[in-house]
Amino acid sequence: MTTAADPASLAVTSPATTHALVEICVDDLAGVLAAERAGADRVELCADLVEGGTTPSVGMIESVLAAVERVGVQVMVRARGGDFVYSDDEVRVMSADARAIAALARSSRVPVGIVFGALTADGRVDESALEAIRAAAGTVPVTFHKAFDDAADLFAAYETLAHHGVVRVLTSGGAATAHEGAEVLTALVARSSGRRMPAVLVGGSVRAHNVSALVARTGALEVHLRAQVASGRGHLVTDESLVRETVLAVAESPRASRPAVVAVDIGGTSAKGALVDTDGHVLRSARVATGGSGAETVTRIAGLLTDLIAGARESGRSVVGAGVVSPGLIDSATGTVRYASTLGWTDLPLAQLLSEAIGLPVAVDHDVRAAGAAELAYGAAAGSRNVVFAAIGTGVAAAISSDGRALEGAIAGAGELGHIPVVPGGELCACGQRGCLEVYFSGAGLARRYAAATGGGRGESPDAAGVIARVGVDPIAARVWSEGLDALAAGLTTLTLLVDPEVIVLGGGVAQAGEALLGPLRERVSAGLTWREAPRLETAALGTHAGRIGAAMLAFAAAGRSEVTRSWSVPVILTDPASAVADAHG
Ligand SMILES: [Zn+2]
Repeated sequence: MTTAADPASLAVTSPATTHALVEICVDDLAGVLAAERAGADRVELCADLVEGGTTPSVGMIESVLAAVERVGVQVMVRARGGDFVYSDDEVRVMSADARAIAALARSSRVPVGIVFGALTADGRVDESALEAIRAAAGTVPVTFHKAFDDAADLFAAYETLAHHGVVRVLTSGGAATAHEGAEVLTALVARSSGRRMPAVLVGGSVRAHNVSALVARTGALEVHLRAQVASGRGHLVTDESLVRETVLAVAESPRASRPAVVAVDIGGTSAKGALVDTDGHVLRSARVATGGSGAETVTRIAGLLTDLIAGARESGRSVVGAGVVSPGLIDSATGTVRYASTLGWTDLPLAQLLSEAIGLPVAVDHDVRAAGAAELAYGAAAGSRNVVFAAIGTGVAAAISSDGRALEGAIAGAGELGHIPVVPGGELCACGQRGCLEVYFSGAGLARRYAAATGGGRGESPDAAGVIARVGVDPIAARVWSEGLDALAAGLTTLTLLVDPEVIVLGGGVAQAGEALLGPLRERVSAGLTWREAPRLETAALGTHAGRIGAAMLAFAAAGRSEVTRSWSVPVILTDPASAVADAHG
């Protein structure tokens, strides 16, 4: 179905022809055996993972080496939890541990290594501590653990480790998670191909559903994760099925895996999700109802993302990011929903919560701003830099692009066109003001005012489309429509005088009235502007797809791939998600 060459597939670094190795971090014998049964390549054996892992007991190491048949065993040498700046006494103890492990390694059937890390107070690799451990370890290879991520200069630290013969470094690229550190990881993996350079073991929120994308993006040849779940008795145990899922995901992560994103458009009653490839083509779509509470809705949206990510794998795609658009006051820089009344969200760090849930970059923006960005890029406003996109659905909101920049405002409240007071002292709005535009002209406003004027009760009175259909035959419908047009024209006239747009694009359900709306509206806006010409008035070209397209654009931007969206074509991006099936071409 994809006809154009996929530019992004060329840009993705192909990992090695073999699958990445999977290392599981464990702190008990049962965990080692579960990891081995599930097909892991290596374990990192620690004590007390709750503390971040410390040196396991000699009894633990002996038991593990006696029990394993195949998996490599990397033994942690770490005197305590906390920071990685050690006293001479602590280094002495760790050196003794390293000697003991080296002695046990001599009679082992499986490869054994030592995992260690130490930094100076000013954030450099502690070379004297490292040399002490290396000397004690003898021929047993030394991996430098995640202390590396606390180094002040990761690339300088990496060179130092290479100089001291460290064989491997466990890192998330200096970030909290591997996906956040992916750029640095990619650079480190590239350096690791040099002679005698430490291998890069990628860790940090690596999970079954994101490992394939991480491997594809960074070129990592080794991944590290902890696969523990609560036992129900107050401690953590390694979950064999979690390890198995990850091993399978890595085995299935093909070099040909092509990137895709998940786009989610949250409405008042449901959230629509779509898996979108680099052509803007919808491969799959799904929908969930928004929940009874704000927290429940977040959980359902996270589930929607996870389902589509799983579907991507079946289509031979790796999801590289997600974009979510929502109504409300949205701070797009942080992905925080400051306020969304219909969803029960106040100061909700939505991008962060979803990113933690799926282990991928997530961008969040306002639904109308995102739809406006899509119309600006591909729709009725393409080529214009000064544009107002007004979405007229149940309510009314606008996205304002001034000299090519989307206006967000001090409280993320720019573009509240629906609450411009156009009738001083007019009818009460749900927002508490009087005379707001959307009281007179919106899906809800037109239906409510017609019902009030005709005395019609709930369920008997027509919706906005029904009111518009009666305009030629029903004087009450004609009056409600005409008063609504007056209100909308007053709002658009005000906007025109303030921001001087070249074109105003009308989207949303009510805009489907087309010329019946545009004709009388043009007259009114022109009449309201005596000394200047009215801007062009157009209806939206992308219809109800604009939100999804805007969300997909956000997602590719979040993944650092916004260049792929520049070559999108309108017929492809308008493909109806409901009729789309998994791309048979894989
Ligand atoms: Zn209002």
